[in-house]
Amino acid sequence: MLVNDLSRVKEYLPIVGLAEFNKLSAKLIFGADSPAIQENRVTTVQCLSGTGSLRVGGEFLARHYHQLTIFIPAPTWGNHIKVFTLAGLNVKTYRYYDPATRGLDFHGLLEDLGAAPAGSIVLLHACAHNPTGVDPTPEQWEQIRQLIRSKAHLPFFDSAYQGFASGSLDADAQSVRMFVADGGECLMAQSYAKNMGLYGERVGALSIVCKTADVASRVESQLKLVIRPMYSNPPIHGASIVATILKDSDMYNEWTIELKAMADRIITMRKQLFDALSARGTPGDWSHIIKQIGMFTFTGLNSEQVAFMTKEYHIYMTSDGRISMAGLSSKTVPHLADAIHAAVT
Ligand code: PMP
Repeated sequence: MLVNDLSRVKEYLPIVGLAEFNKLSAKLIFGADSPAIQENRVTTVQCLSGTGSLRVGGEFLARHYHQLTIFIPAPTWGNHIKVFTLAGLNVKTYRYYDPATRGLDFHGLLEDLGAAPAGSIVLLHACAHNPTGVDPTPEQWEQIRQLIRSKAHLPFFDSAYQGFASGSLDADAQSVRMFVADGGECLMAQSYAKNMGLYGERVGALSIVCKTADVASRVESQLKLVIRPMYSNPPIHGASIVATILKDSDMYNEWTIELKAMADRIITMRKQLFDALSARGTPGDWSHIIKQIGMFTFTGLNSEQVAFMTKEYHIYMTSDGRISMAGLSSKTVPHLADAIHAAVT
């Protein structure tokens, strides 16, 4: 056992968690040279993975922000609705996915966010949108940023897949960094469940980027008042693993190589599934399989087709037709392609 090995320490952490972990987490998502961090305008608290970060952020906004409506994309990760409703916010949706193109409904998104009352909270998936796998392009992000800022909306980013979309931690944080670079406010919920495989450790962080260091320190004291009666303080073990990796350049490099390998493997599975459907002459346009990003593919299969595949081929997926590309291998792709082919013909 290493001297000072934090993973063996069973003391309580402070209410806001492990200070070193918080600093490193902010650096990871906002960038090492982020002016907001250098100007001490960011407050970061360790929370219970992505879900806990969203919940603490939601409760903080319900208590202190002047607008109680949060706009979430349609569709989105199912838990968003419950997390924010129970936090005390009113949840509304904005158009995001277009079933006809199996891509982004960019026009609908701009129209809905443009029509939302000024100052609304807007939930954005930083990358690898769950469940659709559809992300805006950098140019579209820029237009979204301009609209959000012009309406004085408050962006709340959910980052559950940094590094998993493109294989690059920096590229996957680009959307967030565009918003932070303009000097405006935003919230950020980070999860280490996927990118470090720390699902059960429940390790994540909530950062709030403020306009001044003074506001950031006042925000932090209010966050403590949200956290203290909710769970007192967060668990130590996972955060110490993350901090150990992020501060050691060898371990950090090893981690980025492994992340890239995982992201590339997912991209390869997309290509293999697309090729297998093309080889079978499966009717329809399946190019969205290679265009979509991250762990998930929104296949476009309907609930009857999904039920058929489960019954006849023992393939299990969510009834909205979402499949996890991470669960596929070169061995199982042909079986899945046979099943999709049979379901649509
Ligand atoms: N946000 C999104 C979009 C997710 O997909 C997930 C996990 N499925 C989470 C947040 C939260 O996950 P966790 O609480 O395990 O970090």
